[in-house]
Amino acid sequence: MDTVALKKIDPDFKNEIAEKIGLQEIKPCYACGSCTGVCPVREIVEDFDPRRLIHMIILGMREQVLSSDLIWFCCQCNSCYFVCPQGIRFSRIAAELQRIAMTEGFVDNDFLKRFSPVNDHLLDLCRRTMFEKVKQGLRGPQTIPCWRKNTCKE
Ligand code: SF4
Ligand code: SF4
Repeated sequence: MDTVALKKIDPDFKNEIAEKIGLQEIKPCYACGSCTGVCPVREIVEDFDPRRLIHMIILGMREQVLSSDLIWFCCQCNSCYFVCPQGIRFSRIAAELQRIAMTEGFVDNDFLKRFSPVNDHLLDLCRRTMFEKVKQGLRGPQTIPCWRKNTCKE
């Protein structure tokens, strides 16, 4: 677990993120770890851990979260959303963290340029993961529209 620097704690951080994506999205997390267990990115990037990032948000570790490269690794596959008992969609949290990090200068263009090939790989991983999930029968409102259109038989 990352060190918590008390002086840098922002107790409103969780509210800020929750407000952007819906209050119920973060606070009900009870750290069961199902999201981390099913995440395909976690299998190749050991440090990437959605549960830990959510925990850091709840603790108010704003600066550490927004300056972390790890917030850019979510491939938006929504596998974690399928299994989260609390219906938390980490992909939305990651997208919001990225938006704030960009807006507030926590990330520079050089980083995004360097990250671009990794991002291509992650998007491919995302596509393959979605396909596998759909094949396993996991489809519904969580599945992105093009997958529903091309895979649902009803
Ligand atoms: S699966 Fe949901 S409740 Fe469990 S740790 Fe992940 S976000 Fe929290
Ligand atoms: S949406 Fe992001 S955090 Fe969730 S399983 Fe996919 S890559 Fe992992």
